[in-house]
Amino acid sequence: MSRVLVVGAGIAGDALAVLLDRAGWQVTVVEIAPGLRSGGQTVDLRGDSRDVLARLGLLDAALAATIEQRGLAWIDERGRRRAEMPVEAFGGAGFVSTDELLRADLARLLHDATGPRTRHRFADTVTGLTGTGHGVRAEFRRHAPEDYDLVVGADGAHSVVRRLAFGPEEAFRRPLGLAHAWFTLREARTTPPTPPLDGWFLMLNLPGSRVVEARPGHAGEQEVGFTFPATSLPPRGDTEARLALLERTFAGEGWRTAELLAAARVADDLALDTYDQVHAGTWSRGRVVLLGDSAWCASPLSGLGTALALRGAATLADALGREVPADVGGALAGYEAAMRPVVERAQAMYPGRVRSFAPRTRLGIAAMTGVMRLVQRGPVGAFLTRHVGDYGRAPEAAPAPPVTTGR
Ligand SMILES: Cc1cc2nc3c(=O)[nH]c(=O)nc-3n(C[C@H](O)[C@H](O)[C@H](O)COP(=O)(O)OP(=O)(O)OC[C@H]3O[C@@H](n4cnc5c(N)ncnc54)[C@H](O)[C@@H]3O)c2cc1C
Repeated sequence: MSRVLVVGAGIAGDALAVLLDRAGWQVTVVEIAPGLRSGGQTVDLRGDSRDVLARLGLLDAALAATIEQRGLAWIDERGRRRAEMPVEAFGGAGFVSTDELLRADLARLLHDATGPRTRHRFADTVTGLTGTGHGVRAEFRRHAPEDYDLVVGADGAHSVVRRLAFGPEEAFRRPLGLAHAWFTLREARTTPPTPPLDGWFLMLNLPGSRVVEARPGHAGEQEVGFTFPATSLPPRGDTEARLALLERTFAGEGWRTAELLAAARVADDLALDTYDQVHAGTWSRGRVVLLGDSAWCASPLSGLGTALALRGAATLADALGREVPADVGGALAGYEAAMRPVVERAQAMYPGRVRSFAPRTRLGIAAMTGVMRLVQRGPVGAFLTRHVGDYGRAPEAAPAPPVTTGR
């Protein structure tokens, strides 16, 4: 039985674990967090995500876990709505849809679907990877070294597998110039009570490319985000410095900003990261291969991170088949040939995506909200509804070419 080590129990890692376990592999997943990661906002079930979840037999469960959403509204500092994009916009292909569930719920579904041959090791990671000629010797922080036929780095944009096998992060990281903090606001903990969202994702754009968001979450919860210009951040362990940065950046702003900053202080899942893309010239080296954000993070602004992770997992599983292929290099090259055009289209995003998400000036904000109103109306709206495409797939994605397995 072929043995694979998957590093990272995220969307890509556990989706691959399910597929390879079903194909007959013995799968080990190592995850640095002490349990499945919580937190994160909603992710989309349209396009590729839907196809792969259907293949996994998880689509009904995923659809049953969707969060009630009514649309996205751009508001001003007094909470007045400047523009809205309801879920019905563009025939259901707008920014927000009814088919979204929390990232943590999707991760849980995938994790629970992993089969009996799959073992998960939490609170551990790899510290060394050495080619043995016919496999890879992996060293762990908390376990004795083990030999695998293949190692998959599904450990996100700051991948340790990529660092060990390909080189330092800076060679692959392309910052988009913004940083994003996110956390869950639990309404029961707020005094006075926080206003309900009624299914609306509310977004306040502020001058200086800053954004404050509150999105629907589980009942009694809201998913909050703060976006601001930054290409580097205080160290991950320094929560106080990170909170102070948020507080400095958004001090004195209107709407619910003060309340949301206070909620960040008591949140149990506060995360902060830069919006980066990952560009790597190749995704495999010997018997080490990258999958998901570690290989190609397109950034949350692409709206395609989950779709790419799921499609990538399915494509890699198909390339590998039931056991380690005789021509591993050929199989991994086939996976890359199938995924790279899709990834490149997703990373390109549409022109002005970053600037239109977080305009710099009041004039820019007014223009952006005006455009958001305009594009949904009259002939422009009708044209876009016909041509906006299938949300959740990289634009103009051609069907994946047949994968060369080398066997
Ligand atoms: C907690 C969290 C919240 C997120 N929220 C959103 C969101 O709201 N919107 C959005 O668009 N995208 C979000 N993302 C990113 C999104 O999940 C990915 O862009 C996409 O699903 C690709 O999945 P992935 O499996 O490649 O990476 P991820 O889903 O990021 O999973 C990577 C996994 O690897 C683990 N890991 C990291 N380093 C190591 C290591 N050294 N050793 C072992 N394991 C490691 C991580 O803990 C994580 O579980 C979030 C990611 C996380 C981890």
